[in-house]
Amino acid sequence: MMTRREALKAAAFAAAGTAVAAGQIIRSTSKIQHTAAGADGPFTLPELPYPVDALEPHIDARTMEIHHGKHHAGYVANLNRAINEYGEQFRAMTIEDILRDLSRVPEKIRATVRNNGGGHYNHSLFWQMMTKNGGSEPKGDLGRAIAKRFGSFSVFKDEFSRAALGVFGSGWAWLTLDAGQLHIETTPNQDTPLSAGRMPLLGLDVWEHAYYLKYQNRRADYVTAWWNVVNWDFVAERYALFKTSTTP
Ligand code: MN
Repeated sequence: MMTRREALKAAAFAAAGTAVAAGQIIRSTSKIQHTAAGADGPFTLPELPYPVDALEPHIDARTMEIHHGKHHAGYVANLNRAINEYGEQFRAMTIEDILRDLSRVPEKIRATVRNNGGGHYNHSLFWQMMTKNGGSEPKGDLGRAIAKRFGSFSVFKDEFSRAALGVFGSGWAWLTLDAGQLHIETTPNQDTPLSAGRMPLLGLDVWEHAYYLKYQNRRADYVTAWWNVVNWDFVAERYALFKTSTTP
């Protein structure tokens, strides 16, 4: 019989296989022939930290497969293509550093980097912001900070949910940190709070691609279900890391 550790390892291996295969599909359909070699990077699709069905029944496996393996992989491929073609000086930079000041990005690729770089960064965080058997409430420092800022966890949850439901079209709802202060905010498209100088702690993707297969037009049901998979340990780690500074 497999131990829990062995089972986790096997699951992680299976998830890694999915990520690699998805990356290959994107690369093989690239139309930019002369960057074929560079299409492997500088940015890569991170593996999901759990199997695609880990968040069932709240987030279904098929949605996770397409969301991670197609949508996120697409952002990575488009970002790499733009950087490799026009932004050589950005190849050595982290995605965080690029997004912190988009005015440095050549105008020709700025919108592409904003959308696809933002998409890559936001989704790389999003996968980690969820976990099997997540949910419940944040504890410790973060729990206290949320209660102090919003009155209680339940008030915070209501305000965050309302913000997520209020996003018109595609975008995100966020819990962010700005100079130590917690905020709820939303961004359109793949814009990230990092580009406005605020550090995302928790984000909820409310693009239809994040929920349409299971929930169709019922975004409210998706938001309600999503609270069951929030990885508060990860959010608390980010709070500890960034509460005094938005740069680690
Ligand atoms: Mn998404």
